[in-house]
Amino acid sequence: MSAVFRAMTNSANLKHGISLWRHPSSFINRSSRTTVAFTGAQRRAFIAASAAFSNENREYVIVGGGNSAGYAARTFVEHGMADGRLCIVTKEAFAPYERPALTKAYLFPLDKKPARLPGFHTCVGSGGDRQTPEWYKEHGIEVLYQDPVTDIDVQTNTLTTSSGKLLKFGSLIIATGCSAARFPEKIGGNLPGVHYIRDVADADSLISSLENAKKVVVIGGGYIGMEVAAATVGWKLDTTVIFPENHLMPRLFTPFLARRYEELYQENGVKFLKGALINKLEAGHDGRVAAVRLENGSIVEADTVIVGIGAKPSVSPFEELGLNAAVGGLQVDSLFRTSVPSIFAIGDVAAFPLKMYNRIARVEHVDHARKSAQHCVKALLSAQTHPYDYLPYFYSRVFEYEGSSRRVWWQFFGDNVGETVVVGNFDPKIATFWIDSGRLKGVFLESGSPEEFALLPLLARGQPAVDKVKLQNASSVESALEIARSSLQEKSAV
Ligand SMILES: Cc1cc2nc3c(=O)[nH]c(=O)nc-3n(C[C@H](O)[C@H](O)[C@H](O)COP(=O)(O)OP(=O)(O)OC[C@H]3O[C@@H](n4cnc5c(N)ncnc54)[C@H](O)[C@@H]3O)c2cc1C
Repeated sequence: MSAVFRAMTNSANLKHGISLWRHPSSFINRSSRTTVAFTGAQRRAFIAASAAFSNENREYVIVGGGNSAGYAARTFVEHGMADGRLCIVTKEAFAPYERPALTKAYLFPLDKKPARLPGFHTCVGSGGDRQTPEWYKEHGIEVLYQDPVTDIDVQTNTLTTSSGKLLKFGSLIIATGCSAARFPEKIGGNLPGVHYIRDVADADSLISSLENAKKVVVIGGGYIGMEVAAATVGWKLDTTVIFPENHLMPRLFTPFLARRYEELYQENGVKFLKGALINKLEAGHDGRVAAVRLENGSIVEADTVIVGIGAKPSVSPFEELGLNAAVGGLQVDSLFRTSVPSIFAIGDVAAFPLKMYNRIARVEHVDHARKSAQHCVKALLSAQTHPYDYLPYFYSRVFEYEGSSRRVWWQFFGDNVGETVVVGNFDPKIATFWIDSGRLKGVFLESGSPEEFALLPLLARGQPAVDKVKLQNASSVESALEIARSSLQEKSAV
């Protein structure tokens, strides 16, 4: 099984080799229509009542104002169903934005043109209109800022917000994402100078620490750790990355691939402490973090610590809709319906059937946030009933600031199962192919051309039979990709 998905998979179901997800018998309204909220008369009453958002009735409510909410709002607009009908309730002070920017261009050194809002409001990541707060106003969408939902009554379809507002909804989409996993307070997890990054407020707080920082410790060797470390050496700060595994990005990278990236980071001044466990974050005399104590007793000095140890789905206060015990999150079907008619969940918080690999997954990536939002809203507003069929896709971009000695941009599509074949010397390209039972299951590419990156999803989706020896003997990444492409053509010719 894929390491990437192991933690996110319902192993009990896999063991029995059955379809990975079924509704419990009491789980859902099994009507074939996907719009489940209203009778015609009720719908008209709701539209009339909610048109000016003047009372507590709302036709459509999205809880959460992140990536998936932004793309959901765009899909409502495209269907002509937003104006006077859609309300977004969010915890943050900002309209939805492209969250991945927070550990990339947002953290560029201050003299290297860092990204700031409104530059990365959704949907810039996929080439749409930039959805600033004005965009929502112009499209008649109500956005309630800094007012998280604290309670839901599924009998009366009513939400309560922290300010005490009551919102009765016709249909509800839960898009609450994740929150960063934290170290407990008793080991120093809340000390001043210890940072977690999930939103703009977190990133601003980190930047104010970096302005006075000298020694930075990054805890975690995954996405957040890699991206933050690439940023802090750009700020010319002494940077140490500490993680318990043997190499960077252990859930996706092979040891060989990780080594290439680790060498690049080291050339840029990053130090690694691998296989290390944290015992405590220690405070100095001023109460700020001053050091990281490891389980082996050694101490690493630090005036700023960034913790990137994973994220937890934000399911509260919606637990009663049905949690998936194995992967976490709210369980939905292939149209993003929860156990309660007219309530949906999308993005990071949704545990959905990953059709391609016949298992349940939760995917914490922006591509799924966008696509799940679009699929869910289309299913809600139209007669679309085809199941969501997602192809896993991950990417990262680092060292992109002006003056960096080299930029890094990789993409991965598919499933990282089976044996691997690596081609290329990372100068700048390197590719890795995952082959299982003779078929190409996953493919990774660093520094590809747009045409080469465009080939990857076709390969991962097509899963052609490939000649492993031919791939191993390929003289370059280009020729390896050509071999894979021709396997795909041979497959379609059969
Ligand atoms: C720093 C960082 C870097 C990332 N980089 C990448 C990357 O390079 N590539 C990639 O593919 N993915 C990346 N991701 C993951 C990607 O950003 C997420 O998968 C995506 O944002 C998920 O969208 P979402 O709408 O489900 O959740 P989010 O975008 O997290 O939005 C959830 C929103 O709901 C709000 N909320 C939560 N609870 C409530 C409540 N009760 N009431 C109201 N509002 C609530 C939150 O405050 C937040 O605004 C990154 C994530 C982070 C944090």
